[in-house]
Parts: sequence; structure tokens; C-alpha cells
Amino acid sequence: QFPVAKASVQSVVQHWLAGDCQPEHLSWPSCETYQQQGGYAVLKRVRTGALRLDQVIDQLNHAGLRGLGGAGFPTARKWKLVAEQPGPRYLVVNADEGEPGTFKDRYYLQRQPHQCLEGMLIAAACIAAEAVYIYLRDEYPALHQVLTQAIAELETEGWIAPGYIQLRRGAGAYICGEESALIESLEGKPGKPRQRPPYVAQRGLFQRPTLVNNLETLYWVAELLRPGSETFTQAGRHGRQGLRSFSVSGRVAYPGVHLAPAGITLRELLDEYCGGMLPGHQLLAYLPGGASGGILGAEHADLPLDFDTLQAYGCFIGSAAIIVLSDQDDLREVLLNLMAFFTEESCGQCTPCRLGTEQLLAHLRQDRWDRDWLLKLSQVMQDASICGLGQAAPNGLLSVLKFLPHALPERIQLLEVERG
Ligand code: SF4
Repeated sequence: QFPVAKASVQSVVQHWLAGDCQPEHLSWPSCETYQQQGGYAVLKRVRTGALRLDQVIDQLNHAGLRGLGGAGFPTARKWKLVAEQPGPRYLVVNADEGEPGTFKDRYYLQRQPHQCLEGMLIAAACIAAEAVYIYLRDEYPALHQVLTQAIAELETEGWIAPGYIQLRRGAGAYICGEESALIESLEGKPGKPRQRPPYVAQRGLFQRPTLVNNLETLYWVAELLRPGSETFTQAGRHGRQGLRSFSVSGRVAYPGVHLAPAGITLRELLDEYCGGMLPGHQLLAYLPGGASGGILGAEHADLPLDFDTLQAYGCFIGSAAIIVLSDQDDLREVLLNLMAFFTEESCGQCTPCRLGTEQLLAHLRQDRWDRDWLLKLSQVMQDASICGLGQAAPNGLLSVLKFLPHALPERIQLLEVERG
């Protein structure tokens, strides 16, 4: 069981981190085994020109592959944009999986490191990257060993020159999952997001055009370029296409990474993949996109969980971290956890985020909430913060004020003050 409301939302992730992620507990197909299973065949076709860049882009577009780190930008379009920039170009792999409730990158990396690496090398070949940098969450020490070994195997087998793939460790900052902050960190500077434009596709790592892709996005690339990828593309529900890896935690019988059709609803996900709610728990609400994606109530359990639908509700699916809350959770405690998290993780370089998160946190600690003031401050943060952290920090609060004020503990007085 995961006491989401009593501990921090991050404790859900910590529980998973502490679980089976010890090097001695991991086993994965070696480079040799992966090749015997047909691995690296797609990379070979790309490198020999049997599969051209335009064909790769067509196939990824056809499959509907979008960035699975949260932003959902069409993958093939991003590759094309970077490939059109003057060289030298770099590929940066974002494996800094830090969104509370998300653990899908870890799941794939520890089971199929070579499929992840094949996707990286296909992307690198398509944009003619000078080098590949993997930025790995430092709280995944076992995966550091897995990747180190897998990269060494690639070098030994002659797939890459020594040093072509550089493995770098993050240092525990959530903001370094933001692509420009990640690049700053890779360059050895404090991880603070850059102002855009220029975009990282134009001037990224070392001021050169850079393709930044999420780890899971690259995991699917080789799969989608192999014969038989119809299994992925023909999946989907409620008019959506593909499969999605949902990291499910909270008050469900079977938490974990569940690969389910894109567009599935929460109710279907719970019933078909998670064994329902824990005994004695009634669904109260759920976070569809980790700490940043807002909060929806039980009455929204039949909405398709996808990039576009949730936007109409002021929420987003992001990296598909679904945190399920029950009638035994205290919604105010959840909001306090979220805001304490954003306050702690704000890089502090812009005022609306640095002070806004602090002020929201202080206000939510009281029992009298000024609804009008909360809405105005949230609006300022959404309009004037430099990056997604400050813009998304009020999302949970806003959705509770909009959809779930009745679910707040009775001691909270929601004041509606008319100001002239
Ligand atoms: Fe830093 Fe927050 Fe501004 Fe983003 S919004 S740049 S995290 S202070």
C-alpha cells in the first residue's frame, strides 16, 4: 500500500526505487542475446541506407509516436527539425525520470537496455549526431551499472567507437528533466532552464543543434521500425492510436507499469489492469500526469487518458503517471505535498515561480483559503514563469478548486471575497 496523502507523493517513487532495483537482482539480454533475437537489425538497415531517413520519419509518423517524457511533441517532426540544422549535431537522451509517480523509464531500461540503445543509435544515425549523451537519474545507481556494461558491450562488438555514447549522472534536481536545464547541467553549469528562442533544436548542447528525446520514446523506435509493428499502431481505444506505458500507483490492487491502449479511461485501466481499488477504498480522485498534470475526480473516470482530451479540463497526462487517491486520503494533504515539492524544486531564477510556490504553500497551510487570491496568483505563475515547473505548479490546486472543493476536509473554509 502507498500512503500517498500521509507521506509525500514522492514516497511512492521512493518505494519503487527501493524495491527490486539492486544490480544483483537485475538480469537483461546481453548484446549477443539481443542480436540473436533480431536486435540491432534496424540500426544496420539505417546505417547501410536500406532504411532511409524519410522512410524512418514516415513510419514513426504513421505509428503516431510522440514524446513520452511529457510534452508529447511528434517524434519524427523533432528529428527532421534537428536533421535540417547545420552540423555538428548532438543527441541527448533524457533519462532523468523525476516526475513524482513515474517509473516507466526505469522499467524499460532495466529490462531491455539494448533496445533502448538501439533506438538511441537509430536517432543518432538519422540526425548524424557527433555524440550521444545519456543523462541518467542519479537515484538509479543500478541502471548506471547496467548501462555502463551495455555500452561497453556495444564498443566491444564494434557498433560504436569508444566514447561515442557518454553516460552522465544527474544530481537529483527535478528541474533537470526540463530539456534546456538538463543541457545546462550537462555543460557543467547549474541546471536552470534557458529562455526560448533559440530552441535546443537550433542551439542546444555546446550551442549546437541538439535532439533531446525521452528514454521511453527511444525504446519504442526499433520496435516500430521492425516488421510487426502493427501490434503497436493498431492498438488504441476511444479513437486513439497506439499503446502507452502507465505508471500506476496509489490505492490500487496492482500498482506498476501497465502497457495499455492509448486513450483508455481510468475506470478501464483500474478494472482491466490494476485489479481495481484496494479492498475497502473508494475512488476519490486521481492525478493523471504526476505532480504537474492536475487532479481529476471520480466523476472524470470515464475520460480517455490522452494528450488532447485532458487539456479541456486544465489537466495533462504528461508522462502518464497515474496516482490514484481514495476516500481515505486527505486532499489538502495531497495539495500541500505537491506544493512543497514544487517549492523545493523551483530553481529560483524567476520571481513568479520562486515566490509564487512559497506563497501558495503558506496559504494552503491555513484553514481559511481565499479562493480569489489563489486563482489570481496561480494565473500570474502560469502566465509569467519561464518554464513548465512554475506554469504547472498550481495545476493540482486549480483543479481541486474547480472540480473537487466538496472533497476538501470540512475544516477548510473557502472564502469568496469580492474585490472592487
Ligand atoms: Fe526556475 Fe521555476 Fe522559473 Fe522554471 S519557472 S525557470 S523552475 S524559477
